[in-house]
Amino acid sequence: MDAAGIVEGAERRLRPLFVAAAVSAWDANVAATEENERRRVEAELALSDALADPELYRSVETARGNGAEGLLRRQLDILHDTLVPHQIPEALRHRIVELEASVEARFAQHRGVVGGEPVDDNRIKEILRASDDPAERREAWEASKTIGALVADDVRELARLRNEAARSLGHRDWFALAVAVSEMDEERLFATLAECDALTAEPFAEWKAATDAQLSSRFGCRAEELMPWHYEDPFFQEVPAAGGVDLAHVFDAADVVALARETFDGIGLETAGILERSDLYPREQKCQHAFCLDVDREGDVRVLANVAPDRYWADTMLHELGHGVFDLGIDRGLPWFLRGCHLTLTEGVAILMGRLAQEAGWLRDVAGVDTAEAAALDVELGAARAAEVLVFTRWVLVMTNFERAFYADPEADLSTLWWELVSRYQLVTPPPERSEPDWAAKIHVACAPVYYHTYLYGNLVASQLRATLERDAGGLVGRPEAGRLLTEQLFGPGESVRWDALLARATGEPLTAVHLARDITAGLAAA
Ligand SMILES: [Zn+2]
Repeated sequence: MDAAGIVEGAERRLRPLFVAAAVSAWDANVAATEENERRRVEAELALSDALADPELYRSVETARGNGAEGLLRRQLDILHDTLVPHQIPEALRHRIVELEASVEARFAQHRGVVGGEPVDDNRIKEILRASDDPAERREAWEASKTIGALVADDVRELARLRNEAARSLGHRDWFALAVAVSEMDEERLFATLAECDALTAEPFAEWKAATDAQLSSRFGCRAEELMPWHYEDPFFQEVPAAGGVDLAHVFDAADVVALARETFDGIGLETAGILERSDLYPREQKCQHAFCLDVDREGDVRVLANVAPDRYWADTMLHELGHGVFDLGIDRGLPWFLRGCHLTLTEGVAILMGRLAQEAGWLRDVAGVDTAEAAALDVELGAARAAEVLVFTRWVLVMTNFERAFYADPEADLSTLWWELVSRYQLVTPPPERSEPDWAAKIHVACAPVYYHTYLYGNLVASQLRATLERDAGGLVGRPEAGRLLTEQLFGPGESVRWDALLARATGEPLTAVHLARDITAGLAAA
């Protein structure tokens, strides 16, 4: 069969299975019932079985070897990367799918306990934001970690199974395989991480010392006595209010969904259809996180969220809809296999949009903050955004270095390793004598393995895109030119062009940390 025939046959067979898996994943996250869980596993196994077909894999390899070009070649390359991780023994493959689903279901169902009552993640964050009582904060923080102990053994087992799979395919471990099949290069990844580490170490230490001083006066202790529960986010992946700008009065009574929709309206990108299909508010048995899902690459794009009226959810709605408009903007005339987008680019656009929730111009033009107040907040907000990037970059350094070590040796003393990385990169003091598997409380380790570095790349891409929009579209908020540029340069081409080439073409330069560094220094210098 010729290359075109192979791709056509693959689409006929795989496309309905991809769609069924997406629908069942959506259902299981919206309501983590046993029935939905069972259907989800079924759909994933059916897809995985088809992707494991050795004959299909061989024919794709042969066609690639025969020098196919253009869009045909891109489809074969994408197919190759999709098929490779599935070319492993069936029993092993099934075991991985089932165990992943089971761990994810436990995350969705689990509620920590504070004051004898089961509480959701939003409530835990609320306590860590508002409570001045260190004992209550500690209890909430510990409650946020109890899921770790429940799933740790299985997450470790997942690493063993994933490694076994990766090695059977000739890769060092799962980390190496995952990077190799996502159009990334491990050496370059760690060079970028080292660059970001060097760039942020000093300004982060300075920012954190100032924040610690505020926190220690709030909690009446010495800076050395600050514990992880004194920072607001359970993983310290976000800036505590003490080190940021308090925007509670802006968002308290706001409809953050409407604000996000207006933002996209302002740049000429339609989100009404996405919002209609979405599930946006908290409920029991529902996944507590947020994500955007392109179900069929035909326009059925949905967002799952747990919206509350605060800046976090304003940022998150802008973020998820950023993914959504990307999906909707992909040229539907492209072959189905190319109607996707590389994770670094879609994260870049999502982060670009999410950052707006903390920009003076957006607060004024979209959230209705009056001009004088917005102007007065401008410098502070610039510093807060810089702090956010610093805090998040340090957190990604923890996650990515942890994951590489995790797959290098799943039998290692992971609790010790985790707290070593947390104290090295985040400068947080480990609680004395704590040996709980806190690393397993982060859902990504189990369910989105070797993904976190994508968020850092997303931050680099966001800063780089923003610089391009300032130069070529006169800005972002309220600029239909910005929406047009993103659609034409980034969304439209889908995966017809490799992500790094597409980014270079859209921005005039290859991926660089220069713009992120500039955002940080500019924000901190003005303050
Ligand atoms: Zn995202």
